[in-house]
Amino acid sequence: MRLLLAGNWKMHLTLQEALHLAQSINDYCHAQQITIPVVLCVPFPYLQGVQNQVAPPIYVGAQNVFHESWGAFTGEVSAPMLASLNISYCIVGHSERRKYFNEKGEILKLKILQLLNNNIRPIYCIGEDLTQRERGETLAVLQQQLKEGLEGLTAEQLRRCVLAYEPVWAIGTGKAATEEQVQQAHQFIRNTIAQIWGETVADSLTLLYGGSVKPENAAKLFAIADVDGALVGGASLKAESFLPILNHLIKKKKMHLV
Ligand code: PEP
Repeated sequence: MRLLLAGNWKMHLTLQEALHLAQSINDYCHAQQITIPVVLCVPFPYLQGVQNQVAPPIYVGAQNVFHESWGAFTGEVSAPMLASLNISYCIVGHSERRKYFNEKGEILKLKILQLLNNNIRPIYCIGEDLTQRERGETLAVLQQQLKEGLEGLTAEQLRRCVLAYEPVWAIGTGKAATEEQVQQAHQFIRNTIAQIWGETVADSLTLLYGGSVKPENAAKLFAIADVDGALVGGASLKAESFLPILNHLIKKKKMHLV
């Protein structure tokens, strides 16, 4: 099991607030000698500033990437550009990008390949919306999104990916999925990966849950066998809510070491 905690800052915070938050998280993790990777997915303009302020186990991630390397694509940011800033992770396929920017299918796979070719780990987000869940289509949607984003990747490439199950109806709503819903989805995702890439790859895959994770529900969510951490939105914007979530994940790690 490879545990990881990621924060998705979305389009929030000024540069000064971002640097202050990164500094607080970095100082805490170093003072506590934390070894779990903590990924801060920050807005593009803050990548370098935050990068200069943190050291492993804190890593900086982007929230999006363009699917071409270079060229006349005004306003876009490519994987080689991120790599030149030593960015380690990048979110792909977040439901907000799927919804507002119509990102799907082949484009998402191209983004994942761009990142892998530039030694950046994709955090690939998948998840059903409320209508799909109510129609009983959750597992079919997950299967389709896994296929769209990952089909054709080698086992070595897949090993470098992080997956995040994020039910759309749980994102930013304050209403996290239940333990049963999360375990069912995570088990399904891991089994699907095992069928295509083998048990070893599936077992070593980092599979995050995302959707209204907060200090109050983190312990319950991390107690679920197939949950290896979280992708946190709202609660990642303050050290006072993000660090308690990290502490719950540290407890999970300690339990598995005993
Ligand atoms: C997200 O944006 O990926 C997310 C999970 O947001 P929140 O934690 O606010 O639901």
